[in-house]
Amino acid sequence: MAEQFDAEYDVVVIGGGGSGLSAAVQAAKDGLTCAVLEKEAQTGGSSSFAEGHAAFESDEQEKRGITVTKDEAYWAYLSYSHWRCDPALVSRYVENAATTIKKMRDEVGAHYEDVTITAPDQPGELVTWHLVEGEIARLIELLEADARRRGVDLFMQTAAKKIVMEDGKVAGVVALDSDGEEVRLGAKAVVVATGGYAASPEMLDKYTKYGVGAQMINAGGPGNTGDGINMMLEAGAVENPNIGTVLLFPLMREKTITSHVNCTGMQPYLWVDKNGKRFTNEEAGLNFGNAGDITAGLPGAMYWCIIDQGHINHLVNDGNEVGLGIYVHNYEKMVNLPGEIEADAADENRTNVYKGETIAELAEKIGVKPEVLEAEVEEYNGYARAGFDPKFRKQAKYLRPNDNGPFYAIKMETGIMVSMGAMKIDDRLRALDAQGEPIPGLYCVGCDAGGLFGESYQLTVPGSANGFAMTSGWLSADDIAVRIKAGELV
Ligand SMILES: Cc1cc2nc3c(=O)[nH]c(=O)nc-3n(C[C@H](O)[C@H](O)[C@H](O)COP(=O)(O)OP(=O)(O)OC[C@H]3O[C@@H](n4cnc5c(N)ncnc54)[C@H](O)[C@@H]3O)c2cc1C
Repeated sequence: MAEQFDAEYDVVVIGGGGSGLSAAVQAAKDGLTCAVLEKEAQTGGSSSFAEGHAAFESDEQEKRGITVTKDEAYWAYLSYSHWRCDPALVSRYVENAATTIKKMRDEVGAHYEDVTITAPDQPGELVTWHLVEGEIARLIELLEADARRRGVDLFMQTAAKKIVMEDGKVAGVVALDSDGEEVRLGAKAVVVATGGYAASPEMLDKYTKYGVGAQMINAGGPGNTGDGINMMLEAGAVENPNIGTVLLFPLMREKTITSHVNCTGMQPYLWVDKNGKRFTNEEAGLNFGNAGDITAGLPGAMYWCIIDQGHINHLVNDGNEVGLGIYVHNYEKMVNLPGEIEADAADENRTNVYKGETIAELAEKIGVKPEVLEAEVEEYNGYARAGFDPKFRKQAKYLRPNDNGPFYAIKMETGIMVSMGAMKIDDRLRALDAQGEPIPGLYCVGCDAGGLFGESYQLTVPGSANGFAMTSGWLSADDIAVRIKAGELV
C-alpha cells in the first residue's frame, strides 16, 4: 500500500543550518514546493558559529586584489588530502563557490566586510575566508527570512526520524514534532543537511580513532548528533571512507571561545602533557586544527600550557601570536588576560587554571612530579636563551623563557567544531548506494557529505566547511529542480 502523508512537497530538507537553508531558498527560487525540518527551536546549527566562508575567483576577492584561482584551490584540496578527497566533487565546489558569494550578497542581503586568512605565519594559506558582517549567524537570519518570504514551510522543533523509501526511491520523511506527534511529509526528493555527528559521543567513538568521544567539548550546535547519517544508512546509502574526519581544536572546558585565557592556552609557548613532558613543536597552535588533532591523541586528550608573568606582559603589551578566528583577533592585545587568569586560578571549583610561585609548586597543583616539570622548564629556558630549539625546531621568536614567576598552567582539552566527512555522494550531491549508484531522490549536503577532505580538515583553505555547506545546498536544489522538471523524480 502506498504511504499516507500529511502533506506533499517537491523537496523536504532535513536540517535548518547553513546548507539546509541554502537548499531551501534555492528550491523555492527554482519553483519547487519545499519544507524544512529543524529539530532545535532555532535555525542555524553549527553554521551560526562560523565567521566566514571560502570562495575562489569571487568578485569580492577581485576587488581587493586577491588572486587565488580555482585551479590553485582545486590542487590545494587534492594535494593536502593525498588525493583522498573526491576530485569531481572538489571541482564542482571550487567552480561554484564564487556564485555563492554573489547569491548571498545580491539576492539574500549579506555584506562581506573582508576576505582574509585565519592565521598569520601559516605557510601556504590561501586568502579565501570571506567574512560576513554579523558573521554567518546574520546570514542565517537573512536566509531564514528569505525562505519564509518565498513560501518555504519551516517546521521548528521537529526532528526527522526516518526517510521513507518506496520501490528504491525516496518517498518522504517521518518526523516527530515538539509534542511527540508524528508528522509524515511526502517528497520527490529529500536533502539531508543535519550537520554531521560532532555532538554524538557514540558516533565520535565509532568513526574517529581517538576513543575520547565523551570527553570532547562540542563548540557547535547541540543538534548535530548524526541523525541524517543514520537515516541515510538505513535508506541504503553508504559511508565515505573518510567519515572519521573531524575539525578539532584545543579548548578549555567551561570557557567561551572569546576567553583570553583560552586563547593563551593555544599560543605557541611551552606545552607539556599530563606527565609534565614537552611533546611537540608548539607552532602547531598556529593552525588550531593541527593542534586539535595532536591534543586528542595525547594521554587524557589534554595538555598544559605553562606561562610566567613575562608571557602575560608580552601578551598584554605586544599582542598574541595567533588569535582564534575572529573571536580573538590575530595580534590582539590580550588585555583581559591578567584579571581573567587571576580569577580562574583563585576559583576553587575550577580545575583547569593553576598558579604557583615556583615551578615545583605549580607542578604539585597540576599533579605532575615537580622534578619532571622543573627539568623540562629548565631545558626549555636554555633553548629560549640560546634562541634555538634543537628538540622541536620551534622558531626563536616563540621561545620565551619561564623564569619570572608567578607561573601559571592552563589546561587545554579537545574541542570539536564539526565532523566533516560522512556519506559517499556524487558531484550532484546525490547519496550513493553500495554499487556506487545514486539513490533516486536522496541528496546529502554540508557536514553530512563526504568527499571534500581526506583524513583531516584543511585550514589552509580557510572557510572550507561553511563554503561547502552554503554551496552544496543550492547546488542540490538546482539538481533536484532539473530532475523533477525532466520527470526523473516523481
Ligand atoms: C565555533 C565554530 C566556528 C566555525 N567557524 C567556521 C568558519 O569561520 N568557516 C567555516 O567554513 N566553517 C566554520 N565552522 C564550521 C561550519 O560552521 C560548519 O561546518 C557548517 O556551517 C555546517 O553547516 P551544515 O548545514 O552542514 O550544518 P549545521 O549548520 O550544523 O546545520 C545542521 C542542522 O540540522 C539540524 N538537525 C540535526 N538533526 C536533525 C533532525 N533529525 N531533524 C531536523 N533537524 C536536524 C541541527 O539542529 C542543525 O540546525 C565553525 C564551526 C564552529 C563550531
